[in-house]
Amino acid sequence: MAPDIPRYSRHELLRWIGPEGQQRIRRSRVFVAGVGALGCLVSTLLARAGIAFLRIADFDYPEIHNLHRQILYDEEDVGAGLSKPEVAAKRLRAANSEVQIEAVTTAVGADTIEALTDGVDLVVDALDNIRSRYYVNDAILARGIPYVFGGAVEAAGNVMTIIPGKTPCLRCLWPDTEVVGNHPTAARVGVLSSVAMAVAAVEVTEALKILVGREQDTIQGLLVMDFWRNTFQTAAVQQDPKCICRTITR
Ligand SMILES: [Zn+2]
Repeated sequence: MAPDIPRYSRHELLRWIGPEGQQRIRRSRVFVAGVGALGCLVSTLLARAGIAFLRIADFDYPEIHNLHRQILYDEEDVGAGLSKPEVAAKRLRAANSEVQIEAVTTAVGADTIEALTDGVDLVVDALDNIRSRYYVNDAILARGIPYVFGGAVEAAGNVMTIIPGKTPCLRCLWPDTEVVGNHPTAARVGVLSSVAMAVAAVEVTEALKILVGREQDTIQGLLVMDFWRNTFQTAAVQQDPKCICRTITR
């Protein structure tokens, strides 16, 4: 690239971002929970967007059945002994050496969530189970950190942006803990690679809106996308009066 064309010029040209918004992105610290299909694309686009600090966490190692959709891993990574966060960090550093990347090989759970959400401005969800998401949800409420939830199975996806103190949370959406374990997962019912990428792209768009200070432009409710039937709808989500998010103090 010619030295007189700034690296982030195509973002800076956008009326919603501008040089000022890009400066905000450059100071941002983000935790991406999970580096599967969603996490590979989310972390790639956020690193390439030039955030200051990116933390990625996952307990998995690349496997051959991941490669159709988990775009940071190659055949050589299968069985090579490096975890997904370790491989991902290597690729992300090659994509943008300006970003500080912290790779954590761990599950997102009760004993790790506090450290994983420490010192970040935003959490982006790239998990594959509801139980881990509840841990993220409760931690971000306690810390007052915005959280972009996203999920993709079969040919459908959901995205919801949670701003503590302003919007309903994941427990408002699914107050019944019975749903834990009953949700379909990609491991059980499959997932179309393109759909996972599309959902991740929506999550990144939401993340960038928050990072540049345009929370008011985020999705209001739950975005429900069915890419096989070509339907895209936003469902209203009511705040549950009994939910912990009502009483959380910031
Ligand atoms: Zn709630």
